[in-house]
Amino acid sequence: MSEVLTVACPTCGKTIIWGEISPHRPFCSKRCQLIDLGEWANEEKKIPSQGDSTENDDWSEQPD
Ligand SMILES: [Zn+2]
Repeated sequence: MSEVLTVACPTCGKTIIWGEISPHRPFCSKRCQLIDLGEWANEEKKIPSQGDSTENDDWSEQPD
């Protein structure tokens, strides 16, 4: 008895299955996901690089 959890795509309202079958959940597709993000126009563009994640490694938390 395994219930199938379904959700409605926030963009188009299409019912999708909440699971690995829907990698873009809660959206029904990548397109809807991009539309929601307002980046549908840049769909074919690659996501910009992560940038330099040079966080200052603060090791000041030394036990005394
Ligand atoms: Zn959708």
